[in-house]
Amino acid sequence: MKGKIVIDRELCKGCKYCMIACPLGIILMEENFNRKGFIPAVCVDPEKCTGCSMCARMCPEIAIEVYRENNEE
Ligand code: SF4
Ligand code: SF4
Repeated sequence: MKGKIVIDRELCKGCKYCMIACPLGIILMEENFNRKGFIPAVCVDPEKCTGCSMCARMCPEIAIEVYRENNEE
């Protein structure tokens, strides 16, 4: 399944839970701080995303939105 995530970098607290949760390892941390002084997560290989939602489920800040090809959540 093809998916896509959108990470709100200003909501992110840089906890890395999503990075650890992604079974494909396509989430890493950015190099720059956000406005609150946290290093936010970023999807580095969006083409591979399956939309499995594991990252979003782990995010305590609800900073990740997941979209799927036929089903938006
Ligand atoms: S939706 Fe799944 S595959 Fe896509 S970035 Fe999140 S954990 Fe990884
Ligand atoms: S789980 Fe949420 S708050 Fe933690 S690094 Fe990922 S996007 Fe940021």
